Amino acid sequence: MRVLTKSPQHILKSVFGYDAFRPLQDECIRDVLKKKDNLLVMPTGGGKSLCYQIPGLIFDGLTIVVSPLIALMQDQVSQLKALGVDAVMLNSSLTWDEYDRNKALVLSGQTKLLYLAPETLVKDDIQHMLCEISVDCIAIDEAHCISEWGHDFRPEYRQLKSLRKNFPDAVYLAMTATATPRVRLDIVSNLGLQVKEPLIASFNRENLYYEVIPKSSPSLQTLDFLKRFKHQSGIIYCFSRKQVDALTAELNQHGYKALSYHAGLPDDVRSRNQEMFIRDDVQIMVATIAFGMGINKPNVRFVIHFDLPKNLESYYQETGRAGRDNLPAHCLLLFGYGDIRKIRYFIDQKESDDEKRVSQTQLNAMIHYAEAEACRRTPLMNYFGETYTRKTCGQCDNCLNPKEVNFDLTEAAKKFLETVLKTGERFGASHVIDVIRGSRSQKVLSYFHEQLDVHGIGREYSAKQWQFLVRQFIQRQLLYKEPEYGVLKLNANSNKVLKNELEAQGYAPPAEKEKVVSRVKKELVIEDYDAVLFDILRKKRKQLADSQGIPPYIIFPDKSLIEMSATLPQNKDSFSTIFGVGQKKLEDYGDAFLGIIQAYSQARHK
Ligand code: ADP
Ligand code: ZN
Repeated sequence: MRVLTKSPQHILKSVFGYDAFRPLQDECIRDVLKKKDNLLVMPTGGGKSLCYQIPGLIFDGLTIVVSPLIALMQDQVSQLKALGVDAVMLNSSLTWDEYDRNKALVLSGQTKLLYLAPETLVKDDIQHMLCEISVDCIAIDEAHCISEWGHDFRPEYRQLKSLRKNFPDAVYLAMTATATPRVRLDIVSNLGLQVKEPLIASFNRENLYYEVIPKSSPSLQTLDFLKRFKHQSGIIYCFSRKQVDALTAELNQHGYKALSYHAGLPDDVRSRNQEMFIRDDVQIMVATIAFGMGINKPNVRFVIHFDLPKNLESYYQETGRAGRDNLPAHCLLLFGYGDIRKIRYFIDQKESDDEKRVSQTQLNAMIHYAEAEACRRTPLMNYFGETYTRKTCGQCDNCLNPKEVNFDLTEAAKKFLETVLKTGERFGASHVIDVIRGSRSQKVLSYFHEQLDVHGIGREYSAKQWQFLVRQFIQRQLLYKEPEYGVLKLNANSNKVLKNELEAQGYAPPAEKEKVVSRVKKELVIEDYDAVLFDILRKKRKQLADSQGIPPYIIFPDKSLIEMSATLPQNKDSFSTIFGVGQKKLEDYGDAFLGIIQAYSQARHK
């Protein structure tokens, strides 16, 4: 495609079909055009790609995009081709013919954007080819792969620094969605970037709704939740492969189209399942954490955590796969105390004490999030070093349905603190609970704790309910828990409670068999649009996508179809104002979609 007007704003609309830049995009693009190196830190779905794609269309020379995964390259190249942009990739998935053809396209100057893996970039034939042409920009996607402190270390990324001398005129733009300062520093130094201040976007994903419910009967809770998402895509993360397969079977029995994804499946099955999910052939992907990297599917409307994640970083990454299209999406966590025990067990298996301590701290932050009483965004954003100052976000369970603090904790606290004291302030919660509930377990007997007068004074609550209460005692600072081994000790407040000088209010422990369901009853209302027309347009999109062998979102994202069904454009002029409609898509798909919309409008007015 020849871009005649070379202003970023104009390209944004004419090629991509978007009206306005997102935060930091225009700033980053201006820097790149000035050949100023940058590190762009932006959450998933923030819109990093445009920051090198638009300069790529403006520069006379080539823009090279370094990417760690073939699936990601393929996705980007198909998206760009659908927009009429000449982009190619060079990697091992190509036949020799395709490889040579793509090289020729690069050499001729016709291709403005070249995607490749770092190990391809260092190859001799590629370096020779690149000597022949001018390279204006090197964009490094998933740049955290350069850091051992990131989650996907790729040693080949380290070679990018020494290559720099071969591209004296190229600006370097590194991009990542990893927020930790340590990784950021690594990226800058390992790439030799000339960057004083990285461009860091907020990690708050405003379109995501966060909800945590106590896990009681997880399959029923899941089925109940899914009723609200009849035709919408979602991911369900489980801890184990066995759980994944069991849940998939159960969902299918209930009439949902669901597939499994985990490391125990053969490669071809895994990639087929992933492909079917991306192409909207199945609705739900039930998966272990093995699933996700390289998934660009924008219309994931919900992510359920069937089991507790190990840390907030993973939770954020996994929930972050919802709502990449910036439309509302729902993140539900089923929070069970049994899961904490499971994770602790795995932590205990770790070799070094350091590792244990780090994992334990991370788990505590995760629990803290799950138990939060105020806005979920506060602990989440704090974890990434961002301060969230708004009192309520209006987009999480705690902000929409504040829990009522109406239960008098004092009596239970007195009994429990007494038991902590009498057992010598040397034990964690489970032992103290055993004593208070009158257990005669080996451990209790071995310490002669069955002989204490506090033995059995708290049988009115189950062990689970005591766990719930103990967490509140700790949160409300009526009791101190040593971070390392979880030993419980009294503090100044404890003594006041025991002396009847302090009372405490909190939440009632949940009834033993109570099943709590996800509480947002409203549908995911996106905007006022004609749902019948939307469905017809969606079928058309699917049919076109299948005939071209591409995922439906490459043709149009949901947001475009929603806008079409809301505004019912009747001619090409009004069609071209729709979100995501640039010149090329207008040419390719305008007639097909306009035809449907016109026919639909006429039928409605008869
Ligand atoms: P990231 O790489 O940061 O995860 P992408 O670059 O894939 O995000 O962008 C996410 C989605 O947002 C893509 O579908 C992209 O086309 C869209 N997008 C990017 N910038 C804008 C914008 N300014 N207006 C509307 N949509 C945008
Ligand atoms: Zn909130």
